[in-house]
Amino acid sequence: MKPFLLVLSSPSGGGKTTIARKLLQGRDDLAYSVSATTRPRREGERDGVDYFFLTRDEFERRVAAGEFVEWATYAGHLYGTLRGEVERILAGGKHAVLDIEIDGARQVRRSFPDAVLVYVLPPSASALMQRLRGRNTEPPEVLQARLARALDELTVVREYDYVIVNDDLFTAVAEITAILDAEARRPSRQDTLWAFIEELRGEVAAAVGKLGGAVPSR
Ligand code: 5GP
Repeated sequence: MKPFLLVLSSPSGGGKTTIARKLLQGRDDLAYSVSATTRPRREGERDGVDYFFLTRDEFERRVAAGEFVEWATYAGHLYGTLRGEVERILAGGKHAVLDIEIDGARQVRRSFPDAVLVYVLPPSASALMQRLRGRNTEPPEVLQARLARALDELTVVREYDYVIVNDDLFTAVAEITAILDAEARRPSRQDTLWAFIEELRGEVAAAVGKLGGAVPSR
């Protein structure tokens, strides 16, 4: 099976990071693409696990060196997906899970047309605000910037391939699992499919021949 990119986007506080982590726990055919960011580290976050925390200079140097598949500005900080990270995951035969915002998702769509883009909606505005406030790590102006950004993000949901509502974590994970499983069955993603079909055709053609029939060329 050809591994692909699974992009998850949602407004900040939409719960996609929790969904992504849960999804990864249950499947060994997925790996999380750790992004780089210039945002300060939140309590409990680990460098190289949650993000690669970079200075702005270092981030910009890496942009100039072409090290990013995509990058974007979000609430005053830079975020980006490292090419090396995605290549490492795909080369290992796994699907890469990207937890990124909409500008980045658009760039991924251009560079990886077979990427699967899933938008995760919060069940309500109050749930979204509750999650954002519950995080308790951001000052009011950052909270405001993130909510204003959510307003914008919600208008582009139709650019995504799939949309789910994150009412319940278990259901949301099950829905993404169903999406992954369906996507894996697209003929274009099954690299052993054509050899198998040729084999089937060969056997069927032999059977037709044995019955005295003419075997069509295709
Ligand atoms: P947070 O600061 O809450 O971790 O993330 C803020 C936003 O940046 C979220 O919408 C998250 O999905 C997005 N984000 C995280 N990593 C990346 C990335 O590598 N590229 C882009 N474009 N967005 C990212």
